[in-house]
Amino acid sequence: MAEVSSFLPVDDFSDLIAANQTFADDFSLGGFDGVAHAGVAIVTCMDSRINPLAMLGLQYGDAKIFRNPGGRVTTAALEALVLGVHLLGVNRILIVPHTRCAMTANTEAELRDRVGQSMGVDASWQQFNVIPDQLAALDEDVQTVRSHPLIPDSVAVGGFVYDVDTGLIDQKL
Ligand SMILES: [Zn+2]
Repeated sequence: MAEVSSFLPVDDFSDLIAANQTFADDFSLGGFDGVAHAGVAIVTCMDSRINPLAMLGLQYGDAKIFRNPGGRVTTAALEALVLGVHLLGVNRILIVPHTRCAMTANTEAELRDRVGQSMGVDASWQQFNVIPDQLAALDEDVQTVRSHPLIPDSVAVGGFVYDVDTGLIDQKL
């Protein structure tokens, strides 16, 4: 890691730190609680085309958001959802993968090859959890949440696909 870091300019983050200063200048949300005020939890992809709050008309403080490549319900996502339901006011869970997701467009071998070429070393050991069939994966994820022993039936669980070209979500499950 140290070798890689030595190539980076010392002010790598200076623009972001300056922007944060501006953000904090009129910050009025100190002491705000960590409850999901709209009772919503969202599991979605890390894709930069997705703004989870805006796409659902939600505001700061309204939702718990868990993101990973592909928007899959992983072990860590379940950890977040169980905590959200029992401690943070969540009563609706949306699982929202999206159109044109890189995790559906590449095979595991292709991703390993691309990363390996980018890094210039072997990356065949790295797991990426690609998604060969997005709707089948969504169905599996929705069922996993609905049948989780620590998520009660009173919690609504929906499976959606977000269209990155129209901004619309389409409920599939
Ligand atoms: Zn994606």
